[in-house]
This record gives sequence, structure tokens and C-alpha cells, in this order.
Amino acid sequence: MASTLLSPDCSTSATTARHLIPLTRKLLCPTTRLVSFERCLSSPWTPSLCLSSSVSKYRTAVSAADPSSMTTTDTTANIIDGKLISKQIKDEVAAEVVRLREATGVVPGLAVILVGSRKDSQTYVRNKKKACEAVGIKSFDANLPEDCTEDEVLRHIEEFNKNPEVHGILVQLPLPMHMNEERILTGVSIEKDVDGFHPLNIGRLAMQGRDPLFVPCTPKGCIELLHRYNIDIKEKRAVVIGRSNIVGMPAALLLQKANATVTMVHSKTMSPGEIIRQADIVISAAGVANLVRGNWLKPGAVVIDVGINPVDDANSPRGYRLVGDVCYEEASKVASYITPVPGGVGPMTIAMLLSNTLLSAKRIHNFK
Ligand code: NAD
Repeated sequence: MASTLLSPDCSTSATTARHLIPLTRKLLCPTTRLVSFERCLSSPWTPSLCLSSSVSKYRTAVSAADPSSMTTTDTTANIIDGKLISKQIKDEVAAEVVRLREATGVVPGLAVILVGSRKDSQTYVRNKKKACEAVGIKSFDANLPEDCTEDEVLRHIEEFNKNPEVHGILVQLPLPMHMNEERILTGVSIEKDVDGFHPLNIGRLAMQGRDPLFVPCTPKGCIELLHRYNIDIKEKRAVVIGRSNIVGMPAALLLQKANATVTMVHSKTMSPGEIIRQADIVISAAGVANLVRGNWLKPGAVVIDVGINPVDDANSPRGYRLVGDVCYEEASKVASYITPVPGGVGPMTIAMLLSNTLLSAKRIHNFK
């Protein structure tokens, strides 16, 4: 995780905020949901931004909207509530687990392999097991020492591959430095690859006309949030920040599969703000606190913040708090929809893992 600390409180936002032009209107968007859109930035390049087509579209929407929908209260972007959606998904999974068990006697099973004793990995694994229990999925585990060999890990994977009670296998990443991640991940049966990291699943995700058996959980969670909030992806311009194998790259492939026009921004991209400012949908997975400022966003953009970055906070008992890649304070005044950190994408990852495990059990037992 690259968590460069830029500005824990978006502290330069005070300067930006002074340039805000209030447009205090609550707008009725075409999907009949209320889109709150208040302000537009007017730093040196923003006059053109303020007159951009998206803003004119919003102004048109004001005049076309029901006047009763207009208000002069201070408004901000709609919050995409990942906690709420993940709870809904877990409830749906739990109900389907019961239906599967009652019809076939099959209980979905998830095996988690943990190598080493990283505290963060132990916490993730514990949380995954708890979440499985809560929805009726059976957990299996293998906890191996830091200095074990690749072959030992592969032996455990092979056992889980053969075990008919196991429908999903997850190898907690990162693996110790001496291990070849690709060799280990390739050992997982593609039919049980609920993390979606097997090169064959990623390859299928990248190809036109092919579908992977599983899609990686975090990017799948991002797209699920867009779907559940009825946010159209088709024909939209999307920018994904970050190109990691586990988040950025699959997120871009998923958006493209959903017929968005996708640009990827990464650490070697020149003038990222100019590119991001053209996007209707921004997914940020850079691992850099407060990287995306309000003036990097097109007014009305939908912002999905995957980043989880610790920043110093003397007021927190832990001495730090978690923030996203997006300067929330600024972005929420420009975007139409935004995910908070925490409580946005984070809770979706485990929900998608449970959903993938259920999907696997149903597919293996040919249960519709
Ligand atoms: P990574 O370090 O593997 O990849 C980061 C990517 O961001 C790289 O491709 C890099 O090129 C790009 N990047 C780095 N600095 C940049 C910059 N200044 N401008 C543009 N691009 C830049 O990280 P990852 O594993 O993909 O995770 C990214 C973030 O998402 C982290 O904060 C991580 O904690 C978080 N994360 C959250 C979840 C979740 O469940 N919400 C899951 C996985 C990762």
C-alpha cells in the first residue's frame, strides 16, 4: 500500500473554498433521484469548468425540475452507503444459503490460507471468517508459518481443491517475500478462485466475449455500488486511478465491459487532474491520502474512493485515522455521488467474497 501523506485534512482546501461560487440548488436528476449540487470551483482554470457542458446540463435540469425540489439549503453530494448495501447483500446471501441447503443439503464452504503472522492479514482473515459464520458459510483455514515453502502452501491449496466441502479458496495477500505469488495463485482451481486472481480469470475478464468465473471482490464491489444506486455506466467516461492487479486494473476492465470509455491514471501519468476532470465516473485506488482534490473533478461526477490510508490524528486514541484517496471535504461539494472512507467500498469487499463463494457452491452443484 502506497500511503504517502499529502494533507491529512485536505488543509489547502481553505484556499480552494474561498473560490467557491455558490449555486445553492438541489437538482432533480433524470433518474428521479435528487442530485445535490451546490458549488463550482473557480480557481484559475475553473471558469471553463464552470461553463462546461455538464454544468450547463445541470442548469438545464434546474429549470426543468419541479420547483418544489429546489432548495436554498447547503447541499453536498449524495453519499453512497457501502455499509447499508453490504448489509443488504449479506442478507441476500444468507437467504440463498438457506435455500441451497434446504434444497440440496449443500453448505457453501470457504477456505482461507494465511502465511505468516502479519497483524493486518490476521485481522482480515478473522473478519472474513466472522462474516462467513454470519451468513451460514462454513470456514476452513490453514495457518502456515512465515518461513514455510511454496510447495507446502501449494499442498494445502491442492487439498482444498479436492475437498468437496470447499467451494472457494482464498490465499491472503501479501505472501512472504520469498514466495512466487503467481505460482501460488495459479495453484487455486479456477472453479474455486473466489478472489478472482487466477491468471485465467483475469485473462477472461480482459477478453471480449469471454466471462471470468469470478471477478475480484473489491472492483466488483465498486461496480455493485454503481448498480445499486442506479448509476449508468454505459457510454460514460470513466477514469480509474491506480493499475494494481487486485483493484485498479480489474476495475478498469469491468467498467469497459459495462461499456464505459475508460482511461487509467497511474503514478507515471502526467497532468492527472486534466484527465480526471473529464470523467463522469472516477474510481480511485492509488493508496495516496487526499490525492484527488475537488478541482480535479467534473461537477456532477460520481466518485468511488477505494483508498484506505492512515493519516496522523492526535485527536484519535490510536494516533491516526483512515482517509481515502479523495479529499472528501472538497469532492463532496463537486460530485453528485461519493463513497465515504470508511463506510464506502471497504464493507463491499467481504460482501462480494461471500457472494462469490455462494455463486461457486451453486455453480458446482448446478443449483439455480
Ligand atoms: P497498490 O499499491 O498495489 O497500487 C497502487 C496503484 O496506484 C499503482 O498502480 C500506482 O501506479 C498508482 N499510484 C500510486 N501513486 C499514485 C499517484 N500519485 N497518482 C496516480 N496513481 C498513483 O495498491 P492497491 O492494492 O491497488 O490498493 C490501493 C488502495 O486501495 C490502498 O489504499 C488500499 O489500502 C486500498 N484497498 C482497499 C480495499 C477495500 O476493500 N476498500 C481493497 C484493496 C485495496
